[in-house]
Amino acid sequence: IERTLVIVKPDGFRRGLTGEVLRRIESKGYVLADLHITTPDRERLARHYEEHQGKPFYEPLVDFMSSGPATFVVVEGHRCIEGFRALAGATDPTKALPGTIRGDLGRDWGEKVQANIVHGSDSPESAAREISIWF
Ligand code: ATP
Repeated sequence: IERTLVIVKPDGFRRGLTGEVLRRIESKGYVLADLHITTPDRERLARHYEEHQGKPFYEPLVDFMSSGPATFVVVEGHRCIEGFRALAGATDPTKALPGTIRGDLGRDWGEKVQANIVHGSDSPESAAREISIWF
C-alpha cells in the first residue's frame, strides 16, 4: 500500500487547523498510520528541502518551518500521494481552488514564504525519503 508524508505546517498548527486537515484526509478514505507533533529542527529541514537549497525562498522557508510545532503524519492508501496533493490544492493558496485544503483555508499573508498549511510528498521516492527523515 502506498504511503505519503503529510505535514500540517506551523501556520496550520497555530491556526488550529490540524484537526480539520486530518478530518479531510480520513473523510477521503485514507488511513492515518502514524503521527507526531514536533517543532522541526533546521538540520532535518535542510535534508527535507534539499531540492530547494539556493532558491530565494529557501531561508525564509526554513525559518518559517522551524517557527513552531508542526504535525507529521504518515498517510496510507492506494494512490494517496496523488490523492493528497489533489486534496491540498495548488502551492499558492491564493490560486488553490475552493474545495481544496489550501483553497478553503489558506490565503496570502504578505510573507516571503507561501504559508500554505500543508505539505505532501510528490513521489514514492520522496515519500520514502521524507518518512525516513521524520520517523
Ligand atoms: P509542498 O512540497 O510543501 O507540499 P509544493 O510541492 O506545492 O508544496 P514546493 O515547490 O515543494 O511546493 O515548495 C515547498 C514549499 O516552499 C511550498 O509549500 C511553499 O511553502 C514554499 N514555496 C514554494 N515556492 C515558493 C515561492 N515561489 N515563493 C515562496 N514560497 C514558496
